[in-house]
Amino acid sequence: MRAYARGELIDADRRWDVDETSMAEVLPTLEQMGLLSLSIPESAGGLDCDMKTYAALLHEVSYASPSVAVTLSVHSMVTSILSKQAAAHRRGAWLGAMGRADNLCAFAISEADAGSDPSGIGTAAERTGDGFRINGEKMWITNGLSARWFLTLARLRDGGPEGELCMMLVDGRSRGIERTKIRGKMGIRGSETAVIALHEVEIPGDHLVGGVGEGGRVSAITLNEGRVGIASQATGIAEACLDQMIEYAKVRRQFGQPIGRFQAVANMIADSAVELAASKALIASAADKIDAGKADLPSSSMAKLYATEAANRIAYRAVQVHGGMGYVRECRVEQLYRDARVTTIYEGTSEIQRYVIAKGLRQ
Ligand SMILES: Cc1cc2nc3c(=O)[nH]c(=O)nc-3n(C[C@H](O)[C@H](O)[C@H](O)COP(=O)(O)OP(=O)(O)OC[C@H]3O[C@@H](n4cnc5c(N)ncnc54)[C@H](O)[C@@H]3O)c2cc1C
Repeated sequence: MRAYARGELIDADRRWDVDETSMAEVLPTLEQMGLLSLSIPESAGGLDCDMKTYAALLHEVSYASPSVAVTLSVHSMVTSILSKQAAAHRRGAWLGAMGRADNLCAFAISEADAGSDPSGIGTAAERTGDGFRINGEKMWITNGLSARWFLTLARLRDGGPEGELCMMLVDGRSRGIERTKIRGKMGIRGSETAVIALHEVEIPGDHLVGGVGEGGRVSAITLNEGRVGIASQATGIAEACLDQMIEYAKVRRQFGQPIGRFQAVANMIADSAVELAASKALIASAADKIDAGKADLPSSSMAKLYATEAANRIAYRAVQVHGGMGYVRECRVEQLYRDARVTTIYEGTSEIQRYVIAKGLRQ
């Protein structure tokens, strides 16, 4: 995994960043390596990775390509929740296919007017004879251009006026789906981000994941694992920054000596190493709880909050240690600095993670 990531994947990721093209070209390789099957049970042909191993793998991928890391993180959190919450008679066939490149998954909650507060979504589901029909528009959807499957949050309006939140698996090959690429992202430019318009999309009744009214609960479980994934994406970026800092501090000379000999520069490296180690420890703690079947939301939020904020500080220092060289595209830390930025925003902003942690402490 490391040999692949630190070999050809780094170069490909640099190219996607410059051209703003999709990482989809490596999906067949990811399939071959089993990386699309990490969170698929062995009974469905997957690798059934425990969270700790999964986090370590995402870290390695992200060291080379934060764009591929988030692609895998989103795909895996969807396959994981389906293995627990999808209709039993559908699971085998769905999960059996989802290890393949042409069955990539996406998670579609956010909308233009509903980000931190998903209860504000406008995507509406109505009942048909034996299923549902949905209309709405999802925004910011990772994997949105290549995904076959969209785990989608909608509001079912057949009860009271408020309706009930429901999670549904939408087949991207259904009629009425329109995908539009979001261009001009600051970072993770190889990762696909799209607006997904849903016009009168028909969904079979057994594509409901969890029950009617359980959309919020299913989202929370999905994001709990997802946040460990994003934290691992952040540590991968942070470690790449740290390694670049160490190397540069050895070879760059000023005032007749390597800049690493100056205490101010050494301190930036030392602080980064400590924060990276602390991030990994928080991830391990959250992953252990999930593996032990004792997942709790604050632990994953702590890992996500700390690791993503730390990755941004470490990327900032990496640019600083490189001086003017850190400010130009030719130097990889310039890209890593931009790639790190989104990690404190998606799958719950840092402010939302703090809210989840504090709420957990009140209970
Ligand atoms: C590249 C990218 C990929 C994404 N991928 C996906 C995806 O695959 N699927 C998906 O569903 N979504 C995805 N998102 C959306 C992402 O999850 C949201 O952008 C995020 O949850 C924040 O929502 P928002 O952008 O609407 O910001 P807002 O919710 O409008 O927040 C704006 C600011 O207000 C703060 N704020 C809001 N509410 C509170 C509060 N209660 N307390 C304190 N501060 C608050 C926020 O922290 C933030 O600083 C992606 C976003 C990006 C940029």
